[in-house]
Amino acid sequence: MHSYPNALTVVRALAPDQPVILNRPHAAARAARFFSEGFPGKSMYAVKSNPSPDLIQILWDAGITHFDVASIAEVRLVRSLLPQATLCFMHPVKTKSAIAEAYSEHGVRTFSLDTHEELAKIVEATSGAQDLNLLVRLRVSSEHSELSLAAKFGVDLADAAPLLQATRQHCDALGICFHVGSQAMTPFAYVQALERVRAAIAEAAVTVDIVDVGGGFPSSYPGMEPPPLEDYFALIARHFEALPISYSAELWCEPGRALCAEYSSLIVKVEKRRGDELYINDGAYGALFDAAHIAWRFPVVALEDDLLQPLAEFAFYGPTCDDADYMKGPFMLPEDIQAGDYIEIGMLGAYGAAMKTGFNGFGEAVAVTVEDEPMASLYRGDRADPRASDNVVSLR
Ligand SMILES: *Cc1c(COP(=O)(O)O)cnc(C)c1O
Repeated sequence: MHSYPNALTVVRALAPDQPVILNRPHAAARAARFFSEGFPGKSMYAVKSNPSPDLIQILWDAGITHFDVASIAEVRLVRSLLPQATLCFMHPVKTKSAIAEAYSEHGVRTFSLDTHEELAKIVEATSGAQDLNLLVRLRVSSEHSELSLAAKFGVDLADAAPLLQATRQHCDALGICFHVGSQAMTPFAYVQALERVRAAIAEAAVTVDIVDVGGGFPSSYPGMEPPPLEDYFALIARHFEALPISYSAELWCEPGRALCAEYSSLIVKVEKRRGDELYINDGAYGALFDAAHIAWRFPVVALEDDLLQPLAEFAFYGPTCDDADYMKGPFMLPEDIQAGDYIEIGMLGAYGAAMKTGFNGFGEAVAVTVEDEPMASLYRGDRADPRASDNVVSLR
């Protein structure tokens, strides 16, 4: 992949008509080292947040050895890239053929479940294997997160005891997992969830070998600057150690966003301006899915030489013919921006590049490597302490 110092040099060299994805391997490696050295347990990468083979290799080289996969295609992908990696199949609803292939052809031993039916499916598809790690997914609150994951998966606390007891009969190691929702804006989301884990263990009276606190670790976006990740790690460690589990029990986590958000940004071109609306060449069906569908705000910067213009608020339209291809922002850009100008949109490594489709004939993009810093970072050690801000707890 061709390498440039930064976005501006890419624009000068290529004057691109298509969006350009800018990858920062050093930022992804730094995030991976932060988790592999700092999280008080095992960190597995949630592949769905960005399944790029280059990124998966970068994370592996920086110490991430475990991968949370959710489909048989993700199992095959990671196994083909990394024969030595440990794969954990953490989707609680799988097909029998996917379980069987994962177990017998790809060495997968760890599966999650949230029903007795799924347990029976796993037992059957692995012919009653004795070497399974089975994790029961507990439903927990998403109230502190920007993106809920509370509705779809997870057994209710009231129904957890019989499922934990039944699962105990069929596994070598029994675990409990949960997901507090993506972009959890306070570590207390994990404290609350671990209290629910404690209640489930007490009610079921089973030996638990693994506690997996899932994903949800935040990155930094406009208006969403979280407390330091060290605070999350410290609170999780303290509340994990206080659980009624054996002293050899393991703590796992499944970060997606936090490991890859800083990896990529995107250069887009302004095709047209109508008042305070800019028509750009990526959008709701491209890497800006979240900007359109859940009004997520991403940092932006105009790629021009004259940096002295005052900023104004803009909304974006994407390139397809669909009214829904609209991103309300607001995105702060120079007030004289016009057709032909270029914009860099930052923090798109997670759920950005991974969401691109070819709808309406758009979706092509070139990818290059850049060497400068991402627009925001949780890992640089030079950020202002956001605990002083009022964004620490989101009330959404
Ligand atoms: C999506 C997902 C993750 C990653 O979540 P982030 O919020 O990106 O950290 C982890 N575990 C499971 C089971 C998921 O579905």
